[in-house]
Amino acid sequence: MAIQPPFLHSAGGAETVTGSCHYVDLGDTRLLVDCGAFQGGRTLEARNREPFPFDPMQLDAMLLTHAHLDHVGRTPHLIASGFDGPIYCAPGSDAIAEVILRDAAKIAWEDYERALRRARRAGREADVEPPPFDERDVEQVLAALRPVPYDEPFTVGNVTVTLHPAGHVVGSAWIDLDTPAGRIVFSGDLGNRESLLHPTPDRPGPARAVVCEGTYGNRTHRSREATIAEFRDVLARAAESGGRVLIPSFALERTQAVLYEIHHLQLDGEIPGIPVFLDSPMASKMTAVYRQHAHAFRDEVRELNGNGGDPFTPPHFHATVSADESRALNDLDEPAIIIAGSGMMTGGRILHHLKHHMWKPDTQLVVVGYQARGSLGRAIVDGAKHVRIYGDDIAIRGTVHTIGGLSAHADRDDLDHWLAETGDARVYLVHGEVDVLDTYAQHLKQAGRNAHVIPDGRPITL
Ligand SMILES: [Zn+2]
Repeated sequence: MAIQPPFLHSAGGAETVTGSCHYVDLGDTRLLVDCGAFQGGRTLEARNREPFPFDPMQLDAMLLTHAHLDHVGRTPHLIASGFDGPIYCAPGSDAIAEVILRDAAKIAWEDYERALRRARRAGREADVEPPPFDERDVEQVLAALRPVPYDEPFTVGNVTVTLHPAGHVVGSAWIDLDTPAGRIVFSGDLGNRESLLHPTPDRPGPARAVVCEGTYGNRTHRSREATIAEFRDVLARAAESGGRVLIPSFALERTQAVLYEIHHLQLDGEIPGIPVFLDSPMASKMTAVYRQHAHAFRDEVRELNGNGGDPFTPPHFHATVSADESRALNDLDEPAIIIAGSGMMTGGRILHHLKHHMWKPDTQLVVVGYQARGSLGRAIVDGAKHVRIYGDDIAIRGTVHTIGGLSAHADRDDLDHWLAETGDARVYLVHGEVDVLDTYAQHLKQAGRNAHVIPDGRPITL
């Protein structure tokens, strides 16, 4: 019998950055790689409720590259739609998925109840739809997760699957599928070779096809050395000013990279040993997962782990749990570094720190992540002199610093390096804005590669 060519249908993550969800049909075996949520605006988020363009009941298994919401967020919907197979992932992704999905379900239901109350007052409650999943669906996802160690092949139908470290976040994997039609590789999200925490990911060998992310296929990041030097200078100057140092940060990966670097710089005496507060219960949970996986980090991080006990706990470290403890930080009478979410300052505890301190000239705001257009963080980085926080007019008199280079994503050179040994494999680009993916596809073609951008919502033969 002739071998059927593999067929791929992307139901998200194609021609866009979020919603990663790739259905692979190999004839006898049907797999789903990731099942993430669309994020960033109503039109896109409405797609989280749509039926899948494949039959979830016919899937043999799902493979999860990592537990960011844009890769795991629609798994409860997948299960509510009839999927009842295993979800394979690398160790760590199971624990992170639990934190991310419980948080997403909680926020979705709180938003729904708020919208419903408002709609009731307007007599339009029929217009408000409940979230596509609830806590029970989340429980079922957690029960379906099957962590498998890196580099240990396992079989699903007639496919041999191997997960390899991807260096993006704890538990991130690129996936090698050894199929009757040849080898097919999925990159998932790939890490930055200049990551503070993760070693450089291994590279795949010759393949039939590589489905590769291209988030930053049009740019190059700064070096680790330059990033650390910049971070050190900003923190040293900030500590000198005697005021509050505020670091808005994403709970997963960025917070741990920041904690590790502060610890490292304080131990080396490069910055003063002022107290460090982690004011985010979610980031504290993620940090606990990172501690359990410290053996997998770069040598420098592991050494600190061996000598100091814990890379993510600087000498004067406090994690605040309750809202009261968080508020009490407002009255603190000494210089301190406060790390709090959300990363783009669109919600969370960072807002009350900004409200209480940004009007003071000795406050230092250290921005360590991307700020999307429309976010409060973007307005501040762009130089707003006044902003509104919780209805109050707040003057921005503190100093704003931005640190580049802390990206958890591969840049163009990292992607080239990772793809270098895949021979004449066809490269299919996903997970990027269309113009960025087009630019990277052009770059690959100029290097003699057979590169394509996967179309959104249209099946293709790999
Ligand atoms: Zn990711």
